[in-house]
Amino acid sequence: MSKYLITGGAGYIGSHVVKQLIEKKNDIVIVDNLSTGFQKTVNTLKKYALTKKVKLGFYKLDLADSKKLETVFAKENVQGVIHFAASIVVSESVRDPLKYYSNNTGNTINLLKACLKYKVNKFIFSSTAAVYGDPDPKTIPLKESGITIPISPYGSSKLFNEKIIQDVAFANTNFKYVILRYFNVAGASVDGMLGQSTKDATHLIKIALETTLGKREKMFINGTDYNTPDGTCIRDYIYVDDLASAHIKSLYYLNKNKGGIFNCGYGKGFSVKDVISMMKKVSGNDFKVETTKRREGDPAIVIADNSKIVNEMDWKPKYDDLKIMCETALAWEKKL
Ligand code: UDP
Repeated sequence: MSKYLITGGAGYIGSHVVKQLIEKKNDIVIVDNLSTGFQKTVNTLKKYALTKKVKLGFYKLDLADSKKLETVFAKENVQGVIHFAASIVVSESVRDPLKYYSNNTGNTINLLKACLKYKVNKFIFSSTAAVYGDPDPKTIPLKESGITIPISPYGSSKLFNEKIIQDVAFANTNFKYVILRYFNVAGASVDGMLGQSTKDATHLIKIALETTLGKREKMFINGTDYNTPDGTCIRDYIYVDDLASAHIKSLYYLNKNKGGIFNCGYGKGFSVKDVISMMKKVSGNDFKVETTKRREGDPAIVIADNSKIVNEMDWKPKYDDLKIMCETALAWEKKL
């Protein structure tokens, strides 16, 4: 049994990873400032930990407060860190870049300093396909070794972190890391325990959910003139529990390896129209959809080459299925 410190464990992806770590009988320390995470999620996870007879501690703490953060490291003897806590709204990052460079990049430096001081040598980092920016269609599916030119401060803040983590690993022989580049994460846990509670009104699936449940009168497709088969943008949607299992695999990977960067996607894409059709199908509601102009900065196609994580970590996704993503997300949204 190990003990892991999870920043952002009260958030969407972090909470799903905590659940799987509990199932694997690990003790957990969640650090979260609850700016976008939820106390209710922590309570759900605490109850779950009790049923599995593992310990779950929670510190309401901002990573900017390095003094307090160090007291957590001093008190809790953790074997590794999984770092989710971050600001993640791309459009906001364009308007307020310093928020992103301080919350994402600055705070990651604080966390890395604490890791080095307390000799915590396993570090898993949540990165993003946004580091690829607006990729040349010829480079799809995207490989980890491909060009990274982010087009938003959000993407840049994550790419800077990748570089910083690699430099820290280079300078410190014992320090090991995995950087996971998430593609479009979707869905909620099949048992209904966890899901995305954030008031996020920008992502496609969330907007489709709100529309089908009547929280919006209609939704818009942002551009139908892309160079894709149906003219709408294509993305690689990954089910949240499959993404969570990639983190568990990463911890095993670090038992034998120094580190690496891995794409997390299924290697296939769905268009905006595909997603909307699926949501209509699973909800049984033919909600109103209109088209509008392109959203600035949207690449036509973003699809992962996932062969590295499949081959090197033996990652075996279980729910490579847009229908399950839409069904579970809908079941969760109905409860909000
Ligand atoms: N999209 C859309 N209508 C919406 C929300 C999103 O057409 O109401 C499109 C968006 O322009 C993009 C795709 O859906 O082409 C996926 O966008 P999302 O924000 O979910 O994820 P991203 O790939 O931008 O991270």
